[in-house]
Amino acid sequence: MLLHVCCAPDLVPAYFHLKNVEKVFFYNPNIHPKEEYDKRLFEVEKLSKKWNFKIIDSKYEPEVFFEYIKGTENFGENSTRCDKCIFIRLFKTALKAKEIGENEIATTLTSSPRKNLDKINKIGKTVEKETGIKYIETRFRKGIEYQKALKYNKEENIYRQNYCGCIFSLRETEKLKQKRLLERQKKLNRLGLEKFTLDPEIFIVDKETFELIYKDFCEFIELIKPKTLITEKTIAKKLNLKNGWNKLKKYNLKVKILDKNEIRRLRSVVDVRSF
Ligand code: SF4
Repeated sequence: MLLHVCCAPDLVPAYFHLKNVEKVFFYNPNIHPKEEYDKRLFEVEKLSKKWNFKIIDSKYEPEVFFEYIKGTENFGENSTRCDKCIFIRLFKTALKAKEIGENEIATTLTSSPRKNLDKINKIGKTVEKETGIKYIETRFRKGIEYQKALKYNKEENIYRQNYCGCIFSLRETEKLKQKRLLERQKKLNRLGLEKFTLDPEIFIVDKETFELIYKDFCEFIELIKPKTLITEKTIAKKLNLKNGWNKLKKYNLKVKILDKNEIRRLRSVVDVRSF
């Protein structure tokens, strides 16, 4: 069997499901830019060394993708553009399987939380009809293997991209990101807390800051999303926070409780409320 691989974090659940993977085909002409392609391939190569499977080919052919999806560029994610993108990758995988004497293929695309699995499997079956190479239907996103894989990806720090792959999805993701940032900023303004910045590395809550934010604390933290919140014991108690990880509604907040002098020292180094 030849396994089509789209990226390392999606390969992990597939590997745990299949248990025995010998050959993979990294064929993803959709990925943009080339640096991103190399990054995703590099992660797969790391796993290949670790788990001892062979990467049959990894040729980068963006022109094949652009030619094949012509006319659907602006259709958005999960549209005909994506059907075509999936088809071309599976079709080429089937051709490669034929070339190397394999008669079955599968794809790690069914590990993706963003994709319609029925659609992928349907496209796989069309490829089977057109090439005579058996397509194995999978649902790698399901089951205990998937949960295990999520844990593994996190523990091993496996690179996961934040956009699907093509230049269009990169632009769409960027646009969405900007839209969300704007929405967060507007909400912050509505709370009258616009003086604070979004996504600070460290957010210090001293007495003065506490007075400003305590009423809408959870909502405020979910809006600014600090990496670490630093505060003193008495304030932590009032906000019901403990040292380490704290669950606030939907946000996991890392808290460091320091004494007043340490906080003052930190403030003197960078004299801003959040940075
Ligand atoms: S969004 Fe993803 S699946 Fe769709 S065309 Fe782009 S890379 Fe392919």
